[in-house]
This record gives sequence, structure tokens and C-alpha cells, in this order.
Amino acid sequence: MNAIPNAEQRRRFRLSSWLAPGERQPAPDIQSTHLGDAFRAGDAALYAEVGDFIFTHRLPLSADVFGVVLDYLRGGDSALVFAVQEQLRTTQGLDAAFIRTLAEDRSGTIRPAAVAQMADGLAAQLGRCLTLIGQSRASAQDYGIALDREARLIAVNDGDAIGRLIDLTVQAVATSRRMAEKLEETHRETSLLRDNLDRAQRIAERDHLTGLINRRGFDVRLRARAEADAANDRPWCVALCDIDDFKAVNDRHGHDTGDRVLKLVARALESDLGNSATVARHGGEEFACLFADSSLDEACAQLNAVRAAIADRSLVNRDTGKPIGALSISIGLAEVHGDPVQAMRDADAALYVAKRSGKNRIATAPIDSE
Ligand code: GH3
Ligand code: MG
Ligand code: MG
Repeated sequence: MNAIPNAEQRRRFRLSSWLAPGERQPAPDIQSTHLGDAFRAGDAALYAEVGDFIFTHRLPLSADVFGVVLDYLRGGDSALVFAVQEQLRTTQGLDAAFIRTLAEDRSGTIRPAAVAQMADGLAAQLGRCLTLIGQSRASAQDYGIALDREARLIAVNDGDAIGRLIDLTVQAVATSRRMAEKLEETHRETSLLRDNLDRAQRIAERDHLTGLINRRGFDVRLRARAEADAANDRPWCVALCDIDDFKAVNDRHGHDTGDRVLKLVARALESDLGNSATVARHGGEEFACLFADSSLDEACAQLNAVRAAIADRSLVNRDTGKPIGALSISIGLAEVHGDPVQAMRDADAALYVAKRSGKNRIATAPIDSE
């Protein structure tokens, strides 16, 4: 049986088998890192290794490749490490298609916000390099002009020496220009990587079935709203909406019909609440709403209107023509007072009360059902 090498063994394996001896210094020790943390010194060594790896294996620059290589080098996911090692042993080695397969297998495990943060750091670094190169190119040009002026004055006495100096300057300027072009190319590649990461992040925050943002996307917006309002106290609210007796819809009409009902409720919430709220699929048959600028009463009135509109509909199973009957949702609503996580808990407690009091209703925290 193939044992999975630990981080130290993998490092040795990489150095011995991927790089020509003496070509590089051994990589610094990899500290245990957490992607959610800020860009740290230990991370920089790891990201340099990611770059080396991508370069050595001629892999394309994309968010998928970046994520898989990063996880491989971090070594936390032993199945992924094993799969990469096995592939490295084959004659084909690693290629973009293989990495993409791995990325699909583990989709959802990338932490896109953290990867995007790394890309931001990388892009900023390259931007600074470009500025520096621009400055050095300008100074080289200045030098060339000045030297040229001097040469005209003294060429009569020492033409050969000045000629050589001018040649050197021309070479220096050409070298600097080549370097700038290379850096600009790197910058373009980094921007591409940035776009890929943005796309990965958008995908990771979307629920595939309903098209709404998912819980992860909702949490990001919740935190952003809390931070934006740290200094003032405009009222804002959160709500949890749960479809009543949804399991029975699945049981009687099948999962596909259940899926269509989920999409229908998602559309009703999104279109009826409009700009007042951000709606997310929070889990199974549960939706979360963020009212960024509404009082409890305003949010309650709007949610109650959607609830009534949904309850008014009588649904028919498209496949069989059989009536699904009435559909309803229960809602828990809470105003945010400082801590949005606590408000979500309050909304959940209110939802529980709405269910216990007979469903198809809204309850607000502190508990006051109608
Ligand atoms: P309650 O009124 O107390 O909320 O009862 P319920 O039946 O709605 O709640 P329960 O938690 O018992 O069942 C929720 C069901 O939602 C079970 C699960 O199979 C179904 N579900 C979760 N996600 C999906 C999905 O993506 N598609 C479909 N069709 N069903 C799903
Ligand atoms: Mg339910
Ligand atoms: Mg539920």
C-alpha cells in the first residue's frame, strides 16, 4: 500500500524530483497556515512554492489550478495529496485537465475569499514593481540623454571612450525596457488570475438550483452590512423563511417537483421584496433575507405580503397534472442590535415559534406572533 508522505517528505520529493540539483535553495519550512488569516510571512513562502510548482509543471494560471496546488502543498487534504502523487508517478505527469478534475471533485472546499485576498496581495506587489520599473526606465532615459549631451561636447578629444560609454548606456536602456515588458506581461497574467478568482468566488457564493446567493454569500453580506453601520444605528433586520411541510411535497410529487417549488418560492421572495432585501438560500428549504435599511415594522409588512401571496397560490404538478395544493411559508424576523449572528439566532427562535403556533405566519423577536 502506498503511504501518503508527510509535508517534510513531500518537500524532499519535490526538491529531488522536480528541480535540477543546485538550481534552487531548499524551500523554507512551511508553517501550518490558515487561509482565512491575513497574508503573512509564512504564507509568502508557501505561495512562492505554489508559483514554482505551477511554473515547473507548465500548468495554466487559473483559480482552479491555484487552489488545487495550494491545497496539495499545504497537505491538509490527504486524498488530494495522494491523487497528485499518483499522477506525478505516471508518464503523463500533471496537466490542466487532471487538475480541473481534482478541482471539480473538491468544489466547495476552496475558500474563495481567502484566495482572492492572496491574489489582491500579488497584484498589488506587481503593481509596485511596475512603478519601480517605470521610474528606473525614466532615469535610464535621463541618463542616456545627459550622456549624449556630454558626448557631443567631448567626443572630439576621446571619441572611443565616449562611444563605449554610449553603447553601454544603450544596452542598459534596452535591458530595462525588456524587463518592463516582462513585468507588464506578468501583470497581465495576474489580472487574468484575478478575474478567474473573482469568477470562482461568484460561483462559490451562488446556489445552483435557485440562482440566489447561498449561505456563504449571505454571511459575507451580513458582515459587510454590520461593519458599514458600526458608527450609526439605522435600523436593519434579518429574517428566516421556511417552507411549510415541504417534505410532504417531495414525498407525494417527487424531488423534481420539490425543486420547482423551491425555485418558485425563491423567485417570489426575490421579486416581491425587490431592493428592500437581499434574499439567500440558507439551506434545504430555508431562505434568509437581509433588510439593510428597514425597521422591524417595514420588514414585517413586506414579508407578510409575500407570505400571503404565496399562500394564495394553488399549485399543480406540471408532470402529472395533479394538484399540489396550497403552499405556505413560516417566517422568523429579528432586528439587528449590534451582533448580526445573534440576530440570526433570534430570527431562528422566532421561526420556531411561527411553526409551533400553526405555520403560515410570521413571528418577530422578541416573540410577538401574528
Ligand atoms: P416544516 O413545516 O416543519 O418545516 O416541515 P418540512 O417538511 O418543511 O421540514 P423537514 O425539515 O421535515 O423537511 C425538509 C425537506 O426538504 C427534507 C429534504 O429532503 C427537503 N429538501 C432539502 N433540500 C432540498 C432540495 O434541494 N430539493 C428538494 N426537492 N428537497 C429538498
Ligand atoms: Mg420546512
Ligand atoms: Mg427547514
